[in-house]
Amino acid sequence: MKFEKREILLIVGILFIMIGVMALPHMNLIYAVVIAFLLYFAIRVFIGRRKRQIQKEVGQGICAVCGAKVIDDKCPKCDAT
Ligand SMILES: [Zn+2]
Repeated sequence: MKFEKREILLIVGILFIMIGVMALPHMNLIYAVVIAFLLYFAIRVFIGRRKRQIQKEVGQGICAVCGAKVIDDKCPKCDAT
């Protein structure tokens, strides 16, 4: 498994939140672990979506005719319907 630096920071942050949750009254270890896992996966999904969004925006490049950013394989200026 390859970990990105940002992912390690995320895990450390989640661990701190878990410790904080455990310090709350009427909290046991299982609740804290469940909350930490849910948070971790929620943030992972959020980061994944943002990455895909950025790749979508950057990956398709720019229009060869006018230089505008290509969206959905179309130039918003030249291919506008
Ligand atoms: Zn164009």
